[in-house]
Amino acid sequence: MEQKVISWDGENKQLLSTVCRRCPEPHFQPRTDELGHIGCCAYEPVFTLYEIYAMIRAGEEKYFLESIYHNPLNTIHPYEIMAGGRVHPSYYGKKDGEALSPHEKADALSHNPRTRFLAVDEKLSYTVCQFFIDGKGCGLDPRFKTSICRSFICQSIEDKLSEREREQLDSWRRSIREEAEPFHRYHKKILEREGITLLEDVHAVMDYFRKLLEAEKTVEN
Ligand code: SF4
Repeated sequence: MEQKVISWDGENKQLLSTVCRRCPEPHFQPRTDELGHIGCCAYEPVFTLYEIYAMIRAGEEKYFLESIYHNPLNTIHPYEIMAGGRVHPSYYGKKDGEALSPHEKADALSHNPRTRFLAVDEKLSYTVCQFFIDGKGCGLDPRFKTSICRSFICQSIEDKLSEREREQLDSWRRSIREEAEPFHRYHKKILEREGITLLEDVHAVMDYFRKLLEAEKTVEN
């Protein structure tokens, strides 16, 4: 039986592809052999309020506080947390015959608003997501994966899909986005109104979500 290029994990609402094991996408090939094949997981996922609430709802408050909120690799924004990647040491070293290290190149590119995105690309070429496990893939609990991680399918895989499969892909992607994004926007607005941010008072955010969870349970019963 022919194997499908992409499949849908309905329990965790995520797209999966066996093609990722041997990533064919030119954009995601490692710059040097030292970097290993990580495909699109050269990425720094951003947890929104949707994923933070998923951790609270799953009873993983300790995990959220210790591994996400207080993780020194991570950057806390008022309503999001960027999970910093592990940058390979070769990012900081000069290759033979090159005047600048990749880091110095990225630094130069970052000063011009028109080339800033290239600086990000340069750094990501040497970065591995902190949740990536060599030989296994994503090590993050799928319940906490960001909507981008759950919905991203690269162009090389899309090119292998039939028209019908593409339509199905769009509908799966929509269903992921339509859940996560409005949730984030809605609760961000309320927290903003109440003057609560992750930066200033993470415990107040957690309290807010505990109350939301209680309210959800009451409605269910
Ligand atoms: S969280 Fe998982 S899927 Fe997302 S970039 Fe990291 S390793 Fe890849």
